[in-house]
Amino acid sequence: MKKILILLGPPGAGKGTVGNKLSQMWNLPLISSGDLLRENVNRETELGKKAKDYMEKGELVPDEIVVSIIKKRTSESDCENGFILDGFPRNLNQAKMIDEVYGKEGEIKTVFLNADDDFIVERLSNRRVCEKCGAIYHLINIPPKKDGICDKCGGKLIQREDDKEDVIRNRLHIYHQITAPLLEYYRNKGDFYEVDGEAGLDEIIKEISGIIKW
Ligand code: AMP
Repeated sequence: MKKILILLGPPGAGKGTVGNKLSQMWNLPLISSGDLLRENVNRETELGKKAKDYMEKGELVPDEIVVSIIKKRTSESDCENGFILDGFPRNLNQAKMIDEVYGKEGEIKTVFLNADDDFIVERLSNRRVCEKCGAIYHLINIPPKKDGICDKCGGKLIQREDDKEDVIRNRLHIYHQITAPLLEYYRNKGDFYEVDGEAGLDEIIKEISGIIKW
């Protein structure tokens, strides 16, 4: 069976950071729909051109674009034993796609990283990412050693366009309207675990590894 972990939670709850740690621990690739979309936007692919406007406004990119990107990526050979999903699914239709494609051959578990809106706005407006390797920083809690420079690869640190406050608020609104109802869907399916996303990274990882033994 493929080991499939779905990380749910509002934008900025720590899905990328937590997913990255779990990916190293379990040796499963971390697949972030947001990262895959940004890569397409940067490379100016046809999909990227279609996705760009939605992303800048913090709106959901149409399913046909995201689903095709995720289907393609999760069928690559490094996903043979499973994968960790960050940012996908974000609505019921996307959740059904995962069930249809992987329901039989996958052991699907869900972790919900919970965090309050005010916490999210504070965290995301201080977030900086490396434009080269994608490493994530926080100006106060995880500052880089040198201002504006990635510790890991020396790349330039930037603020994502959609990490500006008005866009963050829109992303949160969409999260509550469209994505949060998925919590009920996964809670009812079982293998669903809620973790405090406002806790420290080590604590979160300890809690998840206590629950899921992969
Ligand atoms: P993220 O990096 O997960 O915060 O995603 C950044 C942006 O990419 C979102 O605000 C959406 O515009 C788009 N996006 C990422 N994942 C999805 C998805 N599963 N469905 C639709 N849009 C998505």
